[in-house]
Formats: sequence, C-alpha cells, structure tokens
Amino acid sequence: MKKAREIALHAYYYGTLPMRMRYRRRLEAAGQAPLCVLFYHRVADSHPNGWTIGNREFQRQMRWLKQNADVVSLPEIQTRMRRGRNDRLAVAVTFDDGYAENCEQAIPFLIEHEIPMTYFVALDFVVHARPFPHDLERGIPLPVNTPDQLRQMAASGIEIGAHTRTHCDVGAIADAATMVDEIVTATEELGRLVDRPIRYFAFPYGQTNNLSAAAVHLAGEQGLRGVCSAYGAYNFPGADPFHIQRFHADPEFIRLKNWVTIDRRKVGFGRGYTFPETDVRVVDIAAATIC
Ligand SMILES: [Zn+2]
Repeated sequence: MKKAREIALHAYYYGTLPMRMRYRRRLEAAGQAPLCVLFYHRVADSHPNGWTIGNREFQRQMRWLKQNADVVSLPEIQTRMRRGRNDRLAVAVTFDDGYAENCEQAIPFLIEHEIPMTYFVALDFVVHARPFPHDLERGIPLPVNTPDQLRQMAASGIEIGAHTRTHCDVGAIADAATMVDEIVTATEELGRLVDRPIRYFAFPYGQTNNLSAAAVHLAGEQGLRGVCSAYGAYNFPGADPFHIQRFHADPEFIRLKNWVTIDRRKVGFGRGYTFPETDVRVVDIAAATIC
C-alpha cells in the first residue's frame, strides 16, 4: 500500500515538475514566492517510524534544500512575510518534541553547514527525562534531550522554542489556568532552563483542531514573536507573520520535494486562516490576565 502511494507520488511529482517550475518562476518574478517551513522530529538510524528519518537521508534532504531554495531562519521567514515581497523560494527547518538522538549527527551537521534551525521542546519530558506516551505505547521509550543538550544547542546558535509543558492538545484545554500554565509558565521555565529568551511557540499536533485563539492571544501578550501550526500550508508575503504554517518533512523525501517545489493543490490552503475560539476564550483569558 505504502509502495503504491510512493509510486503515485513520484508520478505526480515528476509529471507536474515542468509546470511547477514555470509556476515557481512566475511567483518569484512577481515577488510572491512562498515561504515553506518544515518540521522534523527525530533523526536516527534505529527504530524507524513515521516521525523518524535516518541520518544519511536527512543530510541528503538538507543538501537538496540548500541547492533548491534559500534556507533561512524563522525570523527571516517573518521578515519576508512582513515585507510583502519574496523573490526566491525560501525554506526554514524546525524540529518538534526534543529527541536525544538528534544531537548525535543531525544537529552537528546543521551547525557545520550553517543551516538555521528552531528546536521546539515540551518542557516536562526534558526536565523529568521522561519518554513520550506515543513511544511508550509502542514499547520503545526513546530518549529525550537533556537540559544540558538544550543549553549547548542554544549556545551554538540554535533557537530553542516552546512546545507546551505536557505536549497537550491546546485546542482541547478546558480551563484558563491550564492554558496559562502550558503557554506562559512553561515557556518562562524553558527560557530559564536554557538561559535564553524563548521567542517562538509551536502547537503540539498542530492540526486546525489543536489550535486556539486564546493561546495565540497569550503568546502575543507574553511577547513571543510567533506561533507555529503544523497542518501543511505555505506562508506567503503579506500574510500575518505571527502565524507560521508548517509542513511535515520526515521521513519521505519525495513528499518534501513535492511541498518545497510548490504543490498548487496546497497554495490556497491556510490563506486567511483564523484561529478557533475553544472552551477557553480570548475574552476569559484577557480578563484573567488583567486581574
Ligand atoms: Zn510535538
């Protein structure tokens, strides 16, 4: 089944490549080239799964990205959105969750090749050296990053970002106190842990039903520079730079190539997106934080 899907994706990618190259040139000439933000989870050669990519494959992807796009930081993505003009396809690399094996080869590779990266971690798992529930369910308690690893990464110029305290579904949070703890308090604690200001927040799961207008309001109040979703959409010049939309990158190279070279089926997706009001409403949060 997977094989059939892969063959179909290859056929689609190569069949549409000439057309999409023309489309890319047109967008770049008009200063409207998309800004594509990718998220990975785990780069390792053991225990392959849907959120793991092997080291060699990851390095192949990074080399391909550098050859085919501007590989930039999240602040640069936002600058180009704010400016309302982007003349060359741009890509940014992010990681979610905080798996220890990323420190073995992937992060040294990114540092050596000067590829900017934002690394989002869920605080409790780092502080308590606790494996993620989805790994425990599979019977493979994969190790998470230590606070020391995060501090070393931060010292090497990697941007550390917040990803809640408990890796919760923010869209399902039912009370304001939990929301404040997951979005504000956990982010402040993470900043103290890595001894750096935290500037970005990524919603765990990141699909449209995992997001929350109140959480975005809190992130803004807290002085964060932006929040990331993960439902698979491009960012365009002129869009609100506070919301950075991302594509899932690991582990299939053909899917990554498909997103980065602009899949027209996705171009309209996420445009004008507004964050949903959930059980914890913006007005409740605003009232609670004024008191
Ligand atoms: Zn996550």
